[in-house]
Amino acid sequence: MSRGVLFVMSGPSGTGKGTICERLIANADNNVFLSVSSTTREMRKGETDGVTYNYTTVEKFEKMIADGEMLEYAKYGGNYYGTPKKAVADMLSAGRSVLLEIEVQGALKVKDIFPDAVLMFVVPPSMAELKKRLTERGRETDEQIKERMETAKWEFTKSPLYSRIFVNDSLDDCVKEVEDAMREETEKRGLIDKLISENY
Ligand code: 5GP
Repeated sequence: MSRGVLFVMSGPSGTGKGTICERLIANADNNVFLSVSSTTREMRKGETDGVTYNYTTVEKFEKMIADGEMLEYAKYGGNYYGTPKKAVADMLSAGRSVLLEIEVQGALKVKDIFPDAVLMFVVPPSMAELKKRLTERGRETDEQIKERMETAKWEFTKSPLYSRIFVNDSLDDCVKEVEDAMREETEKRGLIDKLISENY
């Protein structure tokens, strides 16, 4: 049995990567498991503990780090976010592909640990569009939006380290492009595994 493929999705706040990941998971044909991260940030309206994130305290999070339970973790906006190692490793060895929706520092750590991870980066079509999306979702103050836009510029400089870049102009088109790319990567990995095991 082939090992599952580890996919990582990053992109600046407001690019729509969360919605893209939701759509990828909702389509059973993609057969991909979305890893649930742990975080120390407050739960927002509409979120569910154990589904959106596992919400925890700084003390517990730091204990998980000390106990080696995190595949990666990062501080973002003053809060800890991290990927639990066990769930990801179990899924991959059971042949399931796994999707992590994480920020850039964490994604680059994953690439160090799993050089064969497929890193996908989502960008908006323009800075004006990014600002519009952040403003329309109404979650951040003007000051925070300015900070997010500056962070986005730093994140864009890291995008060449990713395997694939997707422009989220039309959501439907972007989801389709990501799905096609994931299928292609999975098929190629399957072929490589087959070639390695073949007698000649
Ligand atoms: P939010 O607070 O908006 O849900 O997430 C803030 C940022 O943290 C997003 O860019 C999200 O992708 C990232 N993030 C979520 N979970 C993880 C994780 O487990 N590890 C890392 N490094 N980043 C994460």
